[in-house]
Amino acid sequence: MFIGHYGPAAGFAGGRIKLWHGFIAVQFLDILWAPAVLLGVEHVRIVEGYTASNHFDLYHMPYTHSLLMAIVWSVVAGGAYRVLWRRAGMLGALLIGSLVFSHWVLDFFMHKPDLALWFGGPKVGLSLWDNRPLAVGMEFTLVIAGLGYYLTRTQSKGVFGLVAPAILFALMALAQIFGNFGPPPADAAQAAYSAITAYIVFAALAAWVDATRLPKSR
Ligand SMILES: [Zn+2]
Repeated sequence: MFIGHYGPAAGFAGGRIKLWHGFIAVQFLDILWAPAVLLGVEHVRIVEGYTASNHFDLYHMPYTHSLLMAIVWSVVAGGAYRVLWRRAGMLGALLIGSLVFSHWVLDFFMHKPDLALWFGGPKVGLSLWDNRPLAVGMEFTLVIAGLGYYLTRTQSKGVFGLVAPAILFALMALAQIFGNFGPPPADAAQAAYSAITAYIVFAALAAWVDATRLPKSR
């Protein structure tokens, strides 16, 4: 899954946690995955048409995408957030940990069985990527629902309060469509670099959105 991951982030942001914090959290496993691939710790093969939605044969990623390590990273990220952003409190840390873990849950629906339960354990995945209309529909439904809810829970400080989320959504939509309908990346390194670039750009735009909107007072 790609932009759909941002749905839960946006759904819970705007109050206790910032939107851009949520954006980093939901892609945390992939943010670790990109350098792991570049360093040769984990492996992906680019196979054109490997799934109906993309070209990734993600045959080895136990350190970032096994269920066991997803739990470990969720706890680590939640713990780090507790220390680094104390004002969000214990609840904020739990929220960040849960958002990190939501990545694995959503990947479980989309991926072919390439998600190991533990190192060398059985691999799982419900293969929704093999149904492109359904896969694309899920990505957009999640992100639109999450961002829509975020917009109702926050209020614009000025005109940019609407412009910034619109630009963020437009870029996410373009990246998603390119990923689903565009050509395969040249190689694993290019896949990793494009992924990490997208995550940085989206998180930066989310920080801009944070700066243009305020939580609604109840
Ligand atoms: Zn992933």
